[in-house]
Amino acid sequence: MSSSALQAGPSTLSKKRPAEDVDALEASKGRKLAKDHPFFSNSSKGFGSTGTFQWHKPLGARSTCLYGTNLTPTCSSKVAAFDLDGTLIKPSFGKGAVKKASKGSPPTWEWWRDKVPSTLKELSSEGYSIVIISNQAIKGVALTTWEEKVGLMAAAIPSLPFRILAAVAKDENRKPMPGMWNELTRIFQEEGVEIDKAASFFVGDAAGRDGDFASTDRKWALNVDLSFFTPEEFFLKQPSQIKFKLDGFNVVNLPQLPLFSPPHTPVIPEPRQQEIVIFVGYPGIGKSTIYQRYFAGMGYARINQDTLGSRPKCIAAVERALQEGLSCVVDNTNRDIQTRKYYVDIARKLRISARCFFFTGSMELAWHNNLYRAYNLPPSKAAREDKRDLVPYLAFTSFRSNHEEPTLSEGYSEIKEVNWVFEGTEEEKKCWSMWLQIEGK
Ligand SMILES: [Mg+2]
Repeated sequence: MSSSALQAGPSTLSKKRPAEDVDALEASKGRKLAKDHPFFSNSSKGFGSTGTFQWHKPLGARSTCLYGTNLTPTCSSKVAAFDLDGTLIKPSFGKGAVKKASKGSPPTWEWWRDKVPSTLKELSSEGYSIVIISNQAIKGVALTTWEEKVGLMAAAIPSLPFRILAAVAKDENRKPMPGMWNELTRIFQEEGVEIDKAASFFVGDAAGRDGDFASTDRKWALNVDLSFFTPEEFFLKQPSQIKFKLDGFNVVNLPQLPLFSPPHTPVIPEPRQQEIVIFVGYPGIGKSTIYQRYFAGMGYARINQDTLGSRPKCIAAVERALQEGLSCVVDNTNRDIQTRKYYVDIARKLRISARCFFFTGSMELAWHNNLYRAYNLPPSKAAREDKRDLVPYLAFTSFRSNHEEPTLSEGYSEIKEVNWVFEGTEEEKKCWSMWLQIEGK
């Protein structure tokens, strides 16, 4: 990643939808709640304490996945997984729900259809592990109320062992990101049980049908490779709905392009000559990878503002490297003419050439790569690499709104386009190819 845009502070995602931004502190409330809240003590005020349901320590690297159990569920290789709102119970959206909660009144809830509890019991008696997989981007009183609601629901089915996992932040656990499935798989593996995906399934209402608010449930099932049903199909046995739309970025729609265009000119000129190579492109679009693969060890210093801290320091580093006889790659986003001119002017002054490598990948692709690197690397790769934080969304929108495409009139001897080509193992490609999104749309 690079660019001064990155210095703009925390994610704009939180600015856009503040009510849904929940930090780890909030997420860990489950622990506190389990200790302090009357619902979980004997002095229950009628909130439905049954003694069978319990919130545990939240899961995940940042404790952003709440985890609860009813009774002591065993691990079966057959998993019947369900979304919660709009699938098992009626959805409770809107300001009214939150307002009610703030008054401290007990939460109200209803089964989605009357046959839901009996169907769950049947599945359990058939040997399925019942698991609820829910996105809950709420915090504060609303989250506490929701936690109470789950307890009330459990109290209505006291003999049904089940687990619930709920993602409370915009990270790897939020559907369609597969984090909650990974957590579930780990829990089962710790009990010596491998989940049989072919015998398991997921039911959810965010299915991309006409009128659905999202398609995250269907995408999640695709990501984790489970059969998927809508609540209507599963509980009401309605015919399966083949008409649905999965919105958003999907890597299968990317054009197949050569890595470089034009492809015939060499990446490094022959004979070698001192030069400045200016990269242009979104964060996460492969710039540093190209530097490492083609320029590192070839007499090119890498000039990067994330590392150096400011543009004046980048300019000074370029001048120093050139004085030492090295060439330079300016590995920043270099989004506009003025930003690039600082380096073109140095080249002009020293009568050396400036070339531009323009990374053509779109903002959607760059954001996708960002999510992949921060949240969805396969464990084998994550173990080998330094942990990368998510680059703020603002870095991407800021690049897009200020971007000026490079032209030869800026003074380059060549502009080479660099197209995105995924390189990695099959396992890495599988994780990269998933539906990765974080805004619940
Ligand atoms: Mg739902």
